[in-house]
Amino acid sequence: MNKDNKNRKQEEPRVGVFICDCGSNIAGHIDCPGITEYAATLPGVVFTRENLYSCSEGGISEIKKAIQENDLERVVVASCSPRTHQPLFSSSCGEAGLNPYLFEMVNIRDQCSWVHMQDREKGTEKAKDLVRMGVAKSKNLEPQEDIESSLVNSALVIGGGVAGLSAAQSLSGMGLKVFLAEKDTELGGNLRFLNRLGPEDLDAREYIDTIIDSVANDPDITVYLEAEVQTVGGYIGNYDLSLKTREGETVEHKVGCLVVATGAVPWKPEGLYGYDGQTVISQMELEQRLKAEDFQAKKVVMIQCVGARDEHRAYCSRICCLTAVKNAVLIKQQDPEAEVHILYRDMQMYGTDKEQLLWDARAMGINFHVYDPARKPVVENRQVTFDHSLLGREISLNADQVVLSTPLVAREDSSRISQMLRVPTDQNKFFLEAHAKLRPLDFAADGIFVCGSARYPATVDEARSQGTGAASRVATILFKDKLISSAIVAAINPETCVGCMGCMDVCPYQAIDFDPEKNICFVNNILCKGCGNCASTCPSESVQLRGYKPKQLMAQIRAAA
Ligand code: SF4
Ligand code: SF4
Repeated sequence: MNKDNKNRKQEEPRVGVFICDCGSNIAGHIDCPGITEYAATLPGVVFTRENLYSCSEGGISEIKKAIQENDLERVVVASCSPRTHQPLFSSSCGEAGLNPYLFEMVNIRDQCSWVHMQDREKGTEKAKDLVRMGVAKSKNLEPQEDIESSLVNSALVIGGGVAGLSAAQSLSGMGLKVFLAEKDTELGGNLRFLNRLGPEDLDAREYIDTIIDSVANDPDITVYLEAEVQTVGGYIGNYDLSLKTREGETVEHKVGCLVVATGAVPWKPEGLYGYDGQTVISQMELEQRLKAEDFQAKKVVMIQCVGARDEHRAYCSRICCLTAVKNAVLIKQQDPEAEVHILYRDMQMYGTDKEQLLWDARAMGINFHVYDPARKPVVENRQVTFDHSLLGREISLNADQVVLSTPLVAREDSSRISQMLRVPTDQNKFFLEAHAKLRPLDFAADGIFVCGSARYPATVDEARSQGTGAASRVATILFKDKLISSAIVAAINPETCVGCMGCMDVCPYQAIDFDPEKNICFVNNILCKGCGNCASTCPSESVQLRGYKPKQLMAQIRAAA
C-alpha cells in the first residue's frame, strides 16, 4: 500500500512498515491484514505492506524497492526475532541507501502469534500496540556509522589434540600465522593412547601422526609444547597474550582471534564395580591393552554409563557406546570364540555408519543386555549380576575381564582458562558456546572460538570437523582489512561523569575503564556489546546507549499508552 498519511507532520520522518506473515507462523494466529491496515493510520507512516515471507529474496527486494520509490526515512519490520533477523533487514536497508541504524524491528511472532495462539483477537491487539511503539521509536532513531578497528592476521590455538591440530592446519592453509600452545610434552591429545578408530577401523596413531607431521613441518605454525597461556588481554582483532614456555621463558604475541581446543580426559572409575586396573578395567585401559596386543580374555563383560548420567555427572558422554562396540568387535575379530556382553542403558550409535557397526556387532554374536539404572549391575568374584529390564529376571554372567565405559570429563584447568578468557563453562566445566544451534563454535566473547571435547565429548571426526569449523569462523573475521562492528554501544559523557565506577561494576564484558587523571570512566567500543547495564545504572545519567537513548525509549513507552 502506497499512501500519503494525513497524520504525518511535514517535519516527521517518512516511515515504511512491513508486516510479515511468516507463512502461517504469524498469519495463522493473528490478523496480519488488519495489523497492516492499522499501521497505515499511524502518524508518520507513509507506506505499509504485508509480506508472506519478509526475509525471502522477494520480501527483501520489496523492502528495498519501497525505500527507494517512497523515499522512506525509517523502516519498521514486524516479524520474528531480531536475534536472528535484524542483521539481514538492517543491512538490506543499507543496500537500498537508508542508514542501517534507521531500521526498527518488532517481534510479533514470539511475542504475539506464538504466546497468544489461543486468542487471535488479543494477539492481534498486542501486535498493533507493538507496531505502534516500534513506529514511535523509529522516528527518534539517529543515523550511526559502524565502528572500524584494525586486525592482527594471526591466531592462537590452545590445545594440540585432534581439534586444535585441525584448527591450526586449517588456519595455516588459509594463509594465517598460527601459534599453538600445548600443555603436554607431545601433540596428539587422547588419540595417542587409542588403538583403532571406529567405525572406519583406522589406526589411531597413524591417523594422528599424519596430522602432527603436517603441523610440525608447517612454517606458519609455531608450536609451543609444555606451554601454558598465562595472560590474555585486549579484544577481538587485537589480543595480547603471554605464554610460559617449557624453558621457563615468557613469550608474548599479538593475535586477532583465539581457538580453545583443550579437549577432555577419560574419567577413572575409582571405587566403582571393583575397579582394580586388572580384572576390572576402564575402556581406555582396554584400548591400551588391545593396542599393545596384550589382551586374551575369553569372557568379557562391558558395562556402559559408568559414572555418567547419574547424580554426579548427568550428561551422556556420547562416545563411550561407539568405543565399546568397536572394541567388542575387535575382540571378536581377534578371537571368534570369545564371549562378549555389553550391558547398556541406551545405545548412542547415532549416524548410519555407527548404526551399521552396531548391526555388524550383533551379527558377530556380541550380546547386548539392557539394565535398569535403578538397580545397577553388581561385579563380584568374576561374576556380573544384573536385572535384565526386558526379560524381567536376574542374570549372572561369568567374566574374566570386566570393562567399564566411563565418560570424558572436563580438564582440570578449564576453570582457569575460562576465567582468563572470560568465557563461560557449563555445570560440568565444559566450555559453553554462545548458542547451541546458531553459534555452536563461538563464545559470546567476540573473536574467541571453541571446538572438540573442550566443548562437549566429541568423536574424532566431530573434533576434526569442529576444528576446521572454528578455523572458518576465525577466517570470517581475519580475512577482512579491518574489523567492522555495530555502532550500538554505550557512550559516557565526560562532562557529567563523576567517576563513581558504578558502570564498571555492572558491565559483563569489562568494556569500561577508569581514567584516574580525568577521574572519569570511558567505554571501549570494541568490547561493548550494547547490553545497556551501564546506562541503567549510572546515577548521573552520564551513560547513553546508542539506539536506545532515553528519548527513543520514552517515545516507545509513551506510544504504549
Ligand atoms: Fe561515570 Fe556514571 Fe560510570 Fe559513575 S556510573 S563512573 S558517573 S559513567
Ligand atoms: Fe558494558 Fe553493556 Fe555498558 Fe557496553 S552497554 S559498556 S557491554 S554495560
